[in-house]
Amino acid sequence: MNPDCERALLEMDTLADPEWLQGHLAGCATCRAEAALRERVRVGLQRAVRATPVDARMESRVRVAMAPPGFRSRWQPYAAAAALLMAVGSYWAVPWAQNQIRESAYFGALPAGVSRLMRVGLSDHVHCAAFRKWPKQGTEHALPAAFRPVLTHIPANYRVVSAHECKARGRSFVHLVMRDAKDGLVSLVIARKQDGETFGNSPLRRVAAGATVFHEDVPRFQIAGFEADAFLVFVVSEMDAAANQQLAVTVAGPVTALLNTIG
Ligand SMILES: [Zn+2]
Ligand SMILES: [Zn+2]
Repeated sequence: MNPDCERALLEMDTLADPEWLQGHLAGCATCRAEAALRERVRVGLQRAVRATPVDARMESRVRVAMAPPGFRSRWQPYAAAAALLMAVGSYWAVPWAQNQIRESAYFGALPAGVSRLMRVGLSDHVHCAAFRKWPKQGTEHALPAAFRPVLTHIPANYRVVSAHECKARGRSFVHLVMRDAKDGLVSLVIARKQDGETFGNSPLRRVAAGATVFHEDVPRFQIAGFEADAFLVFVVSEMDAAANQQLAVTVAGPVTALLNTIG
């Protein structure tokens, strides 16, 4: 089997890189057939469990998502992706296409004042934690070994549900997805610095005088960030500002020290 098709089979399970998968499916009839088969099996299982037909609802949901005038031209690439995937019959891909729209809509609506730095952390939380279904199993083994000790610094009242490498808006991240006591999603997002990025020179506010943790008001989420020599680290959640900042402050020292050994 050619390597691209092997990767496509893996992607169908993990959806680690849906953009790539969509591109491959567009050009590969064999994998399209496989995706359709898997979907029929999956949908068949769901039907057996719930006896709820999904076809009509799926199509109408996509149409609603695509419908608003003005929206359409801006989101044409996603509309095209959704149309293709509907043709393929991939039910999982339709929520994916809708999520692409919601995700882009979130970033399209972000106030211009939101800093470039915090957008980096937000991008992965919104892409991966808020809208993506990540693989549930395997947590720490999906992390590069050097980053695994980060897990030991997560306070006990947070449950790590996924730890992995992921990509959002062209950047790679090491990403811990946690649940808080109220079952809300919390992300710890680690990104390698690019182009001299640093909180130190930014106009962002520190959570307290002399603190190494910075924060910013952004729509819908709370975000706090700190940095190691070569990395930016973000804590993003829907917790209240105090809890989000407290978590960042708690992990900032040990996580910074650890990341400085990775370099
Ligand atoms: Zn293929
Ligand atoms: Zn992720």
